Amino acid sequence: MRLTSYGAAGEVTGSCHLLEAGGKRVLIDCGQFQGNEHAYARSTEPFPFDPRSIDAAVLTHSHLDHIGRLPLLTRAGFRGPIYATVETREIGRLILMDAAHVMYEEYGWRKRKAERRGEAIPPPPWAVDDALLAVDQFAPPAAYDSPTPLGEGLSLTLRNAGHVLGSAFVEFEERRNGNGKRVTFSGDLGYRGREVMPDPSACRPCHAVVTEATYGDRPHRPVEESRREFADAVKDALARGGNVVIPSFALERTQDVLYSLHQMWEAGELPSTCRVFLDSPLAISITEAYERHLRALNPNLLAGLDRGEDPFAFPGVEYTPSVEDSRAINRWPSGSIIVAGSGMANGGRVLHHLRHNLWREDSSVIFVGYQAMGTPGRAIVDGARSIKIFGEEIAVKARVYTIGGLSAHADRQGIIDWLRGSGDADVLLVHGEPKSLNGLATAIRDELAREVTIVEPHTPYDL
Ligand code: ZN
Repeated sequence: MRLTSYGAAGEVTGSCHLLEAGGKRVLIDCGQFQGNEHAYARSTEPFPFDPRSIDAAVLTHSHLDHIGRLPLLTRAGFRGPIYATVETREIGRLILMDAAHVMYEEYGWRKRKAERRGEAIPPPPWAVDDALLAVDQFAPPAAYDSPTPLGEGLSLTLRNAGHVLGSAFVEFEERRNGNGKRVTFSGDLGYRGREVMPDPSACRPCHAVVTEATYGDRPHRPVEESRREFADAVKDALARGGNVVIPSFALERTQDVLYSLHQMWEAGELPSTCRVFLDSPLAISITEAYERHLRALNPNLLAGLDRGEDPFAFPGVEYTPSVEDSRAINRWPSGSIIVAGSGMANGGRVLHHLRHNLWREDSSVIFVGYQAMGTPGRAIVDGARSIKIFGEEIAVKARVYTIGGLSAHADRQGIIDWLRGSGDADVLLVHGEPKSLNGLATAIRDELAREVTIVEPHTPYDL
């Protein structure tokens, strides 16, 4: 088997790997590049391989940095089947449509601005049609732990990665002349001990394992500690008298936040007058997808499900999909918890809520996810006195809380413990910043005494 990774382009990363095995060319993920201001431009470049030569694609999960360039792939002529779990198909469809909406909205805005300068700008790299074509190419859903044949002597098996709903790591098996070879791709691995997602399945013995290294150089805090910190921040913020704004990512973090608020409500830790608004059409649709697949969540939730409970619904929660409903939230001067995207406050409805609340000394903002350099979220976390929202300078007077430990990614120890199951497999590292890749490589060599290769993009490796 032969691996070529296209998962990095300079400073930015987006999962995309080509496996050649059993006479087939299989793409693992087709992600949009993320990481800095050049990421969008890098994501619109032509593929460094001919998409028409790809026989099939398999998706590890539905985050944009794993599926965001699928429409470009179909536009460039890829016509093979796309394998994924049923949940990845459902959420992936929502995320691609939302990405198209955001892209065309920004394009319209930039186009008008360019026209006023007497200039023209190129149209977006793909159209809604291309995304719909990609959705049409999904093969029947693949169930966890049951092999899907890809051709003569080659099969793939998806196993639960515990990262987001529907996430998988992928085992490829090639059988030739009575000999078998197994190669495993981790995708993004989840963090053990979380509340909504199950733990990742064990890695099985294989010849080589290709693994992500997003948080490969650091430990996370225990889940319970972070949950407590979040609950304390919410209670403290509500006691200040104003509103509480929680910028949140639509997939996984929002559902974690809703579940934590649900638990607080059950424990009597939320005032009965408190209103919780979920103000993001994408996060609402994804939460509804979670509600359609409750049995795929953490087994600890099963007892509650058997009693008919919904882990994300409780009195006081209101979904506000329409613009009118969203605007109406601002009528409440106090006691509202507003969960809205985007998670880094660089777009989306959360900007309206920050505009209404950031300057108020009695309001609060709780950040629950990573804030990239250059985003308004990062500026607020770093102590900016004011930030610009819709061209207006808004003072930062609200109390700002940062909850650091709510990660959906395995930390260094989590990745190492998972790798133990791979027997004496060679380890290839992809998908992480140089510091994470090097830190994880050293830890694997020290703790597991394995051969470790940090994969160079665009370079073939025989596995
Ligand atoms: Zn992910």
